[in-house]
Amino acid sequence: MVHVTQVDERGCAVSGDSSQEIDMLLGRMKSAAAPIRDVLKDLHTRLVANYEGRIADYIPELATASPDSFGIALCTTDGQIVEYGDYKTSFTIQSVSKPFMFGLAIGDHGLDHVLSKVGVEPTGEAFNSIVLDEVSNRPYNPMVNSGAIATADLVKGKDYPERVKRMVEMFSRYCGREVFVDNTVFMSERMTGHRNRAMAHLMRNFDMMSEKFEEALELYFQQCSILVNAHDLSVMGATLANGGLNPLTKIRAIESENVKYLLSIMMSCGMYDYAGEWAFRVGIPAKSGVAGGIVAVVPGVLGIGLYSPLLDIKGNSVRGVKACQELSQKFSLHAFESSAAASKILELFSFKKR
Ligand code: GLN
Repeated sequence: MVHVTQVDERGCAVSGDSSQEIDMLLGRMKSAAAPIRDVLKDLHTRLVANYEGRIADYIPELATASPDSFGIALCTTDGQIVEYGDYKTSFTIQSVSKPFMFGLAIGDHGLDHVLSKVGVEPTGEAFNSIVLDEVSNRPYNPMVNSGAIATADLVKGKDYPERVKRMVEMFSRYCGREVFVDNTVFMSERMTGHRNRAMAHLMRNFDMMSEKFEEALELYFQQCSILVNAHDLSVMGATLANGGLNPLTKIRAIESENVKYLLSIMMSCGMYDYAGEWAFRVGIPAKSGVAGGIVAVVPGVLGIGLYSPLLDIKGNSVRGVKACQELSQKFSLHAFESSAAASKILELFSFKKR
């Protein structure tokens, strides 16, 4: 019998012992995915007609995005992917990079040292606010720009190229493919990033950043300029949902014991100044970026990747937020849906329903 590996229409590799078996497997996967594909199609068709919001233009290169673009992707912890719309359209990761860099810094230094440089408290302020904690001089959390710049300062490497390499390799492990920095966006960011530069200087003044703070700023601009698509974001989310192991490549992107720190900071601070309402209404750890990307994580279940560049006044993708709200409601994905949480623990008790 011949051993065959085939790639299905979603790019998933399927193995079997004969081509007949493969056809059967592909057929089964297709029919299993059909209902969820219909849900995404319906969601997309309704939301793509919504042109509310504005494309960010404070980084000039971002303004070139198309307001029509809208992509949705889901990736389960066992590596099944269902996607719809512009899920292959590239955009820069921007602030979606921040929790992942926080994870890299924790891996490099341990939690205590990282927390001595950056807090974990929501700000209630805009992502680019120039505010530090008055007592500790720390930026409030790693999801605002100041905190992310302080976090980039912590990424280890013998020199700058090695630090950039480690950062790019980390994102590649999460995406399950080699990723690259968009040089035009990177240049656009560093040319116009005066506010971020001011924050770095302020933190250096308070000794919250090392003498290499300018290098850290460059690294921050680079991390924001990594090119991804909605498909990639779903795989990154699924990797976190899967305890840090990429479900497609089976390569570890982060130690499992550190995943909870990323998810909890995403839950409390991931959606800018909408984070509280997001946790309340959607209840899924998530992070958005100014290019219009959102990554959301349902632990143990799946990752969600979204892209649509029209942003609301808080800076979150309008269509992306609405899509997550609907998915959360429809499939009871809220972290505090008591039925789902209860059923797991109650399996361990000899509990009889009355
Ligand atoms: N690179 C952007 C900035 O520093 C990232 C901000 C964001 O996505 N919120 O302003």
